[in-house]
Amino acid sequence: MERRKFLIKTADTKPEAEQPLRSPLMQSIKAFGALLILAVLSINAWSLSQSWQRTVRTAEETAINLSLSQARQAEDTFLQTEITLRELQRDVQDEISTGVNGDSLSLIMRDLKSRLPQLHGLFYYDANGKWIATSAQPVPAGINNADREYFSYHRNNPRNSVHIGPVIRSRSTGDLVIPVSMRVNSMGGGFEGVLLATIKVDYFRRYYAYYEMGKRDVLVLMLADSTVLYARPMPDSYIGKNLSSSWLFREMLMKSDRGSGQWSAALDGQKRIFGFARSDRYPLVVAAGYDRRNLIQQWMKSRVQDVTLNLALLAGILAMGSFILRQVRMNLRYQAQLAQLRDELTILNSNLKAMAMVDGLTGLANRRQFDVYLKESLLRSAVSGHPVSLIMIDVDFFKRYNDVYGHVSGDECLRLVGEIIKTLAHRFQDLCARYGGEEFAIILPETALNDAYSVAQKAVEAVRSHKIGHAASDFPAKVVTISAGCAALTGSGNDADIQQLLTQADAALYQAKHKGRDQASL
Ligand code: GH3
Ligand code: MG
Ligand code: MG
Repeated sequence: MERRKFLIKTADTKPEAEQPLRSPLMQSIKAFGALLILAVLSINAWSLSQSWQRTVRTAEETAINLSLSQARQAEDTFLQTEITLRELQRDVQDEISTGVNGDSLSLIMRDLKSRLPQLHGLFYYDANGKWIATSAQPVPAGINNADREYFSYHRNNPRNSVHIGPVIRSRSTGDLVIPVSMRVNSMGGGFEGVLLATIKVDYFRRYYAYYEMGKRDVLVLMLADSTVLYARPMPDSYIGKNLSSSWLFREMLMKSDRGSGQWSAALDGQKRIFGFARSDRYPLVVAAGYDRRNLIQQWMKSRVQDVTLNLALLAGILAMGSFILRQVRMNLRYQAQLAQLRDELTILNSNLKAMAMVDGLTGLANRRQFDVYLKESLLRSAVSGHPVSLIMIDVDFFKRYNDVYGHVSGDECLRLVGEIIKTLAHRFQDLCARYGGEEFAIILPETALNDAYSVAQKAVEAVRSHKIGHAASDFPAKVVTISAGCAALTGSGNDADIQQLLTQADAALYQAKHKGRDQASL
């Protein structure tokens, strides 16, 4: 059983605007947004790095393939030249014993030269370096080639292999040529002279010009000893340069005959992505290098659309995120305001309810509350079987009090009497009410009639002993007194119980009045 408590409450006025910003929902949205941005950025960075690596790999593969095809092409060029030289070597060696016919050999040389576009000239020098035959027309007179590198090579080297020398300037035409030479032996194996074929550097220049390459990309044909035979697109001053200090010769070719990598070219110091290949047949190396800066620029150009799209996507996410954040913030704020409003209304409502249930003058329960509580008490009594007692109290000679002291003092007197009565109904479930006018009532649930009677007697005594002056009272003490009537009833569950208990208590009160007032009656 619980007694209603009607307390007037006040609303808490905490600042509510700050709270939504720190709400878990906001924090979650922010964290999710940050994660999303991080994910988009990471995915983009990863995909960019993958794409750059792919670009580098493709460039390396292209460079290797180009080097391989160029090494093959150089091999073919030199092989055709070697076959020509071997043919001439056979002819010359057949004639050695009888003496070589320079004029007819020159004719043969001219014929052979006309068949190979790479050939600049064909020559035969005797053991002293003297010109015996040549494809050149006219035959220059008084030139001796004994001082040439290839000549001394063959003179000192009995091997019957083809020798490819570094680029020289032709003494007959002034062109840059690559000398390909072969030793001519006597029947006894003695040195009888040198056969020379010169290959035009221009042949490679023209050939390399067919390839679509960037301005700073390079294609280099070298001897295995790292001497440049031709380097595209470098000027001719690079021909003959020794590249032995380059990474290619110091590291890469030590490990493998073909491969790729990135290093700064020994030619000009530019960083390139290189592919290289060494010829199996001749001491030749070809390297193709793509300029790294150029590659980066092209790669960036190709990615600019993707990157812009992704950045736009990111901006979209950010805009959407901040919009959602704003909406959520607003919603949370509205919610907080609504909650505050609801609390205020609840408090207001409970205050109104309390006010509707409380008597304004005495602060005791009013008639409404009395009716509700009496009904509830009787219903509970019907269930528990314990009686409900009711004490009806009426102030004696109160009309006269008003007449003597006025209504304002009358009200004050009623307030005082209310206070005195209230102190007697001290159990939690007891209810003290102003029944109407100068009448009060005390509901005592689960209380027997005798116990209620003793409470009533105490009330009568308490009011009397309070000595509120009442000049018009019939009693000699001339103080305010009350009369009280008690009744008790065990509820039956019917609405009629209320009326019955009220009637009985009223009858008892009437009896107390009739007996002379200032007393309680059963
Ligand atoms: P009795 O001893 O028989 O009860 O006589 P009484 O004069 O008290 O009884 P009566 O019923 O004739 O008069 C009650 C008076 O109480 C009438 C009214 O002026 C006065 N009264 C009722 N309500 C109030 C109130 O709220 N304030 C004031 N000042 N007087 C009230
Ligand atoms: Mg009365
Ligand atoms: Mg009265």
